[in-house]
Amino acid sequence: MRVAVVACVCLVLGAAGAAGQDQAPESKPLLRDIASAVSQDELRATITKLVGFGTRHTLSDTQSKTRGIGAARMWVKSRFEEIGRQCHGCLRIETPEQMVQGERIPKPADLMDVLAIQKGTSDPDRIIVISGHLDSRVTDPMNATSDAPGADDDGSGTAAVIEAARVLSKHKFPATLVFAVLSGEEQGLYGGKLLAQYAKDHHWQIEAVLNNDIIGNSKGTSGVVDATHVRVFSEGTKSTETQDEAAKRRYNGGEVDSPSRNLARFISGLADRYLSGFSVRMIYRTDRYSRGGDQVPMLAAGYPAVRLTEGIENYTREHQDVRVENGVQYGDLAEAIDFPYLAQVVRLNALTMAALAMAPAPPAAVKIEGAVSPDTTISWTPVQGAAGYKVWWRDTTAPFWTNSRSAAYATTLTLKDITIDDWFFGVSSVSADGYESPVEFPGPAGSFVPAPAPAAPAK
Ligand SMILES: [Zn+2]
Repeated sequence: MRVAVVACVCLVLGAAGAAGQDQAPESKPLLRDIASAVSQDELRATITKLVGFGTRHTLSDTQSKTRGIGAARMWVKSRFEEIGRQCHGCLRIETPEQMVQGERIPKPADLMDVLAIQKGTSDPDRIIVISGHLDSRVTDPMNATSDAPGADDDGSGTAAVIEAARVLSKHKFPATLVFAVLSGEEQGLYGGKLLAQYAKDHHWQIEAVLNNDIIGNSKGTSGVVDATHVRVFSEGTKSTETQDEAAKRRYNGGEVDSPSRNLARFISGLADRYLSGFSVRMIYRTDRYSRGGDQVPMLAAGYPAVRLTEGIENYTREHQDVRVENGVQYGDLAEAIDFPYLAQVVRLNALTMAALAMAPAPPAAVKIEGAVSPDTTISWTPVQGAAGYKVWWRDTTAPFWTNSRSAAYATTLTLKDITIDDWFFGVSSVSADGYESPVEFPGPAGSFVPAPAPAAPAK
């Protein structure tokens, strides 16, 4: 039967700073320590070093020791190695590499991502990724020789990845952390595609990708300053949704509850609890209007992913030849980076990775039942490391989860006199020490684990 009724879902977007998922009301000293360990000086030193390579264009020199993408990626690798030595070998460095060619890569070019992997202690198959892109550009995307400082786009994201590695490698986590410095973004998201392929080849169970691209500027093109928000972009429905899943989701809801969206809510809640005067603006989009980033190929591969970007962008800085025109400085120079602001965005990344890695995975196979009944029953399958579960619900027009009830150790809970028709539901997992996972919305629309490929039809 074809579904003919399409409900109007009117989204009420929360004001910036509205409460996110209230995972754990008490403050975690570990997360406070991690946030306070992030250093503006480290971020400044990294961005200064990156700008010093002249250009990091994907098609720039790969042989020079001082200029171009080759020198820059070798430096990132050496920086990860240095951080790894300080944690007594806790980081494994990988450099997936591929020859690529395409519209903006006319001749085959050598593409390399640089990854540092911090293996989890008790649940190492679960993976939390932070990414940023190393490559830079000027006005002409094919110009591989002019100075392209790329301080903000995306020296800021690269600095965030390296600083997260430095801070988080001093601690141990149940889940695995991956620090990913990608390349080829400006030529067509090649580094993100290579990472997605690497993840598939290595059977990574990625629970979250935090893609950081353009996160260090606080003064917009017209001079408006916003140093108190970071935008978190998340897709509403899964890129990998099948037609059948879409039909069911369209009818019963789930258009604002992809795992990426619930990851965004989780991040927003952490900002409210751990950072003062700083909050998330959740943007109900995969990326900025008609623009892209390395989270997109990860979403296409079925992994939950969000993009973090500064609250207000400055277009005289991004993708510009370095020049002064009519008294206006153009070009992506380090002088425009607001380091206190960038440090706040990096704190949010580091504490999000830690909070996710300390918590169990979200519950699996979440189901709800209760049609033509006054009550709603939600059920799920147990996950490793969970000491309890929490059922959440909210009004269908509410942006954040508002109501919750503990299910203790049970894997099913019936909500008496709460009708399935009127609310959206979800469930989270909680560790023995009180770390809570993001909320998972029932069914394929909300599942953090990509559905297995459908079995071949019987002949
Ligand atoms: Zn970028």
